[in-house]
Amino acid sequence: MMTEFVPVTRYSRCKRYSGATIKCPKCNELGQIYHLSWSALQCQNCKNMIDKFDWLIEKGRHSKL
Ligand SMILES: [Zn+2]
Repeated sequence: MMTEFVPVTRYSRCKRYSGATIKCPKCNELGQIYHLSWSALQCQNCKNMIDKFDWLIEKGRHSKL
């Protein structure tokens, strides 16, 4: 089953220890985050600086969407 991704919102949550998978909106590279207390993050693949609310996050019971 494919993981479904939704845009990061201020309601997004991620698990402190297992983290959450995020997807770059520019190159679709996947990354792992362990908290959401950042305003922008550089993609390790395409090196673009992506605003938090432009990232996509895996849909799940922690995303509240
Ligand atoms: Zn990227």
